[in-house]
Parts: sequence; structure tokens; C-alpha cells
Amino acid sequence: MIEPASSVEAFRDAHAEVRDRIAAACARVGRDPADVTLVAVSKTVDAARLRSAVAAGLTILGENRVQEGADKRPDVPGASWHLIGPLQSNKARRALETFDVIESVANLDLGERLDRLADEVRTGQRVQVLVQVNVDADPSKSGALPADVDALVVGLMALPRLDVRGLMTIGRFGVGEDEARATFRGLRELAVSLRQQIPDLGPELSMGMSDDYEIAVEEGATVVRVGRALFGERPHRHQDGPGRAMGDAAPG
Ligand SMILES: *Cc1c(COP(=O)(O)O)cnc(C)c1O
Repeated sequence: MIEPASSVEAFRDAHAEVRDRIAAACARVGRDPADVTLVAVSKTVDAARLRSAVAAGLTILGENRVQEGADKRPDVPGASWHLIGPLQSNKARRALETFDVIESVANLDLGERLDRLADEVRTGQRVQVLVQVNVDADPSKSGALPADVDALVVGLMALPRLDVRGLMTIGRFGVGEDEARATFRGLRELAVSLRQQIPDLGPELSMGMSDDYEIAVEEGATVVRVGRALFGERPHRHQDGPGRAMGDAAPG
């Protein structure tokens, strides 16, 4: 069995490899690699390994559970944290205390709650959010349906303490390149059409994971969320059930 990376050197190599692949994907479509942010998805990775990852320059971490991020953050200085999993409204306060960016806002009720709590928790600082879109209307995934995104974005942008940075989606699992690409293209086209009516919508498109981030970059991703290609395979999580519950993208 291959030992998962844990030394700073091993993380430097893994980081360089992913950045090289991002750069190559950018070159194929004439983009600047500096316009692609790498979020290192650190769910199930313990704080000691994360300190090595941060020392290797992986300074933006993504977690799909509020509690796990809250538990690890005090032990991992020097990183910023993105919430990439579904957020229940009873955990909104904890999420605001823990995360710098909440990528998974998919309904207006949650946005309103974050907006209300922001003054108490953030004292003046706006909350950076992305709007999660279920591009393929896949019933196993969370996210707003494409037909509802327009009204949702308008509603969220009216909330003074939210800074709507853009859109996020989770690609299809275990599909070929063309199908993966179709989802990412769908998100980009949705963003283009939204911006015709809502020019102030932020520029971010968070899409692409270990299996498909290069395709996502070719289709315009400004944020890629990469876990296994940096940290190795994750142990199976029993409480999630098999596979892909809770937005956990581990295949099969
Ligand atoms: C786990 C997860 C990822 C990363 O998946 P990998 O296949 O490990 O790269 C990205 N986005 C979300 C929402 C996730 O839950």
C-alpha cells in the first residue's frame, strides 16, 4: 500500500504536479494560471498532515463538514478555509466562525440567516459566498436548480452583509470527459447569462475535483477543489453511507 503523503516535501511535489497540470490546461485554452485558485480539499486529513500541507504552500483548505473544520482550524494556522459541503441552518453560526468562504449556499433562507448572523460573528466584515448550482438537476446532489438560480442570486445580492463571489458546482461522477465537460460548460454559460442582468455577480466559478479539474479549467474554472490528488485516497466514511452522500465526491 502506498503511504499517503505526509512530509512537507511530499506535499510540495503533489502541489507542484497539480499546479503544472492547471498550467497546462490553461495553456491549451489561452488562460492565465494565476486566475485559477487551488483549494486543497482536506476532509478526513488530520491537523498534523495539514500543517505540512500548509508549509508546502497549500494554504487554502476545503472542508465539507462544519464541525470537522471547526475542530481542525485552531491546530492549523496560516490557512484560509472554504466550506464546500451542504450547510444546515443550525450550523450557520459555527460556519461563520470557522470559514472564510462558504461555497455551498443553495437557498435564500440560508443566505438570510448568514446575513443576520454576520454582524454578531464577523463585526463588519462581509461574508464571501458562492451559489451552489445543481447544473444537471441530479437528485443525489444539493444545489439550486438552474431555473431557480436567477432569483436566488438576485435575492442573495440584496443582502448587505453577503459578498456573492460567483457560482459553484459538483461535476458528474464516473462519466467520460464529454459529459464532465458538459456540466462545467453549463455552469459557465449560466454565469455568462446571469451577468447580462446582474453585472455585479462575482467572477468565480468553482468547479472540478481530482478526476476532472483539468477539464474544468479548460471550461473556465477559477477555483478547483482537489482532494485525493494531493492527499491520497480517503478512508471510507460509514456515517455518509456508500459513495457520494453529503456532497462527498469520493467515487463509488
Ligand atoms: C470531496 C470533495 C471534493 C474533492 O474531491 P476529490 O475527488 O478528493 O478531489 C471537491 N468538492 C467537494 C464538494 C467535495 O465534497
